[in-house]
Amino acid sequence: MTASNGAGRPCRFCGRSRDPRVPGRAGPICLDCVRAGLRVVRDGADRETPAGDVLAAVTSPLAAVCDFCGLRERRTFLGLRRPLLRVDCAARDAVICADCLDHAGDVLNVALRR
Ligand SMILES: [Zn+2]
Ligand SMILES: [Zn+2]
Repeated sequence: MTASNGAGRPCRFCGRSRDPRVPGRAGPICLDCVRAGLRVVRDGADRETPAGDVLAAVTSPLAAVCDFCGLRERRTFLGLRRPLLRVDCAARDAVICADCLDHAGDVLNVALRR
């Protein structure tokens, strides 16, 4: 079976193949990296992935798009755009936005409850 969403691949952010992982276009993100990413979103301070690489907050509209939704800005209801907070792991060229981290957290919560 070929998983077009990269579900069987190692985590984009730490390179490990540990479950549970949430699939993404460029590859999945694992539970530990979702947790670390959500902490970065919360206070903006850098964190380390389980592999020891740096996770850092990115807000520049020019920085890379989210690997999971392909966006770098959020359109508000008046049609204004504001930068979408992203967390990147520069060592692995992996990026995920705050919205996708929230979504991944929800998916994992459900998966872990089963
Ligand atoms: Zn990971
Ligand atoms: Zn996203």
